[in-house]
Amino acid sequence: MYARVIMDILSEQVAGTGSNPRTFTYLIPDGMEVCVGQRVEAPFGPMIKEGLVIGLSEESDVAAAKLKPLRRTLEDYPAILPPLLTLSRRMAEAAHCPLSETLRLMIPAEMRGERVHVREQAVVQLAIPENEVDAAISAQGRSMKRRMVLNLIRDGEVHALAELKLLVREPLEAVKQLEAAGLVRLSKAEVLRRPGGDAQEEPVADPVLTPQQREVLDLVVPELKLGRGRFLLHGVTGSGKTEVFIRLVREVLKAGKAAMILVPEIALTPQMVSWFRGRFGAVAAVLHSRLSPGERFDEWRRIRRGDARVVIGARSAVFAPCEQLGLVIVDEEHETTYLSDRHPRYDAREVAAWRCEEEGATLLLASATPSILSFAKAQRGDYTLLEMPERVGGRPMPQVTLVDMRRELDAGNRSVFSGLLTAKLRECMRRGEQAMLLMNRRGYNSFVSCRSCGLTVKCPNCDVAMTYHLSGGDGRLHCHYCGHAADTPQVCPSCASRYIRYFGAGTQKIEEELHRLFPDVRTVRMDVDTTGGKDGHAKLLDEFRSGRARILVGTQMIAKGLDFPKVTLVGVVAADMTLNLPDYRSRERTFQLLTQVAGRAGRGVIPGEVIIQTYKPEDETIVASASQDYRAFFEQEFQRRRTGLYPPFTIMARLLVESPSEATAQRTAFQLHDRCQSLLAAHGEWKRRTLLMLLDQPGVKVLRGKTRWHVMFKLLVHPQTEEFVAALTELAREPVDGADVYFEYNPTTMM
Ligand code: ADP
Ligand code: ZN
Ligand code: ZN
Repeated sequence: MYARVIMDILSEQVAGTGSNPRTFTYLIPDGMEVCVGQRVEAPFGPMIKEGLVIGLSEESDVAAAKLKPLRRTLEDYPAILPPLLTLSRRMAEAAHCPLSETLRLMIPAEMRGERVHVREQAVVQLAIPENEVDAAISAQGRSMKRRMVLNLIRDGEVHALAELKLLVREPLEAVKQLEAAGLVRLSKAEVLRRPGGDAQEEPVADPVLTPQQREVLDLVVPELKLGRGRFLLHGVTGSGKTEVFIRLVREVLKAGKAAMILVPEIALTPQMVSWFRGRFGAVAAVLHSRLSPGERFDEWRRIRRGDARVVIGARSAVFAPCEQLGLVIVDEEHETTYLSDRHPRYDAREVAAWRCEEEGATLLLASATPSILSFAKAQRGDYTLLEMPERVGGRPMPQVTLVDMRRELDAGNRSVFSGLLTAKLRECMRRGEQAMLLMNRRGYNSFVSCRSCGLTVKCPNCDVAMTYHLSGGDGRLHCHYCGHAADTPQVCPSCASRYIRYFGAGTQKIEEELHRLFPDVRTVRMDVDTTGGKDGHAKLLDEFRSGRARILVGTQMIAKGLDFPKVTLVGVVAADMTLNLPDYRSRERTFQLLTQVAGRAGRGVIPGEVIIQTYKPEDETIVASASQDYRAFFEQEFQRRRTGLYPPFTIMARLLVESPSEATAQRTAFQLHDRCQSLLAAHGEWKRRTLLMLLDQPGVKVLRGKTRWHVMFKLLVHPQTEEFVAALTELAREPVDGADVYFEYNPTTMM
């Protein structure tokens, strides 16, 4: 037997592209069991290297005498299951990248090189029958410790030495003496690190399903049993989507299969995890980027072995090594975090769809504000649309009031809070309830600018305004892109004027105003600055959930998926902040954000109220969000995309160039632009589908010290466009001295 092996898949230089990787054939020595997807060690030139078996055969086109044998297998199971190997191929083909790059996504970082680290602990167990324990104890004479040890492990189970230590001081010597006497066995056992500890959640009783939950389940469950179906669940906030997920997952488990639930961000995970652990206990595994590599690896192995059959995780959990996959749920499917921003780029929703297709599983995308792209697909019939238009228990949708901030200014109110919001906050606090305030920007004052010459202090590495932070106590300016910090200037670095001014209000400023208004009320602030550290989110959310803190101030991250029944008031401090960003999706983002944040109010028994402050109360996107009318928004936006020729009617793409040298960046971009022009000149059918090709510098001209240029494209959706896209991808892969070139297809941002 022979094995075809890709060598060293984790190193950057593996030859071959697409599904056609460079492989090497090895002999499988007698007695060695190897299967496809297994990691092996094999001689490679003068070295021993690690490889991945991607094929087995009875014959070889190379003379057997010339072949070397595999040395050993690295695990006794395939690290990459056959369907995931297929998936890697499909992804490599779609992204026009080497198979090794997509294979790498399927293996936890810990499995790279020899760093696999299995944590072990010492365990003891009786070596004699349980009914002989009493006799053995009496035989221990004077040794209290030995008697205690025997007594503690008399049940015949495996006990960790660490557990004995809680009751017996330094038991090791006693255990060793007992082992020498043949009474106990001392050995090592693998310990699995469990994120969030082993604490079992209280089991939760099932609620009676609402009619609309019942209806949705009646439609999905039969498809689930057949291992097919693609659904888009549009359920308003508070309609009970999570309960639907739980019931579906249970069906899947009953059938002996596995389920994956993708969530957009770590902030959502603790809550989702505790719900799922409450219902499913230890069969639930968590995968997200904040886990330590050890924890991640252990969860991965629990899934790989089938000990965990429910996987909850962020984007990359879509590669979880589940066997017999029955269901993939993508919650809050509209979130951009499902698009990876690193190479190889992928869309977790698309990858999920591919896995479902390959593995015979059901796909369910869910959101209160589906992405325009997904909803358009549902309208076209690619997904079955499921709707849950009502909240659980007949709870009303929150009442939304728009406040015109221009009038507030006219009336002389320069505070970040309108008169109405202040009054409502006061009432809310008096009633002992909780409030959430959303500010779509972080830091104390967004940026520092000179009133005399208009200069904005920018990061020297990144060409973006630096922001001023009060917290952390350093009172310095920070760059959110590269972490650069600088002292706040006392005089303008350009014109030496003393009129340096702090512009805009961030979450910190709001928190301060709150302390001034309500000195006795405890507040929590949640933004990228306060949620660092491994359990940062969980701790802050806990402060709020427990009721110790009464007002939660935060950036968009508080808008999503969190369920706090005691929140009765939600304030959006400035709704238009995101409306006018130079991005064709800014309206979609604004609508999503406002609807999601409004949905945080009144999730308990007390009805909720929402105040949206805006400088543009007549704007149709703001109006649609205030009435939480998704259909109205979809129609407006779909029309806007059609007339403006934006996705899904077109494809936005770009070749992005980054280089530490300004000249190299520019030269490379110009050369790429020329190459593209020749491509189009040679292919009339590509040119006809190209609506726009533009050589330009993006909004952020310098990032992390690198000058940026791009060649932007707007392309018609058409099979021939795909050929052009493939050609552009190839172009981006050609190495350029001193510059990085990336091809981005419908990127999350064109900045
Ligand atoms: P969504 O994710 O759709 O915004 P959730 O799943 O968070 O909504 O559900 C909203 C609230 O309703 C939660 O507190 C949940 O526990 C509760 N809930 C869901 N289904 C039921 C049900 N059938 N009976 C009673 N309460 C329910
Ligand atoms: Zn100045
Ligand atoms: Zn910077």
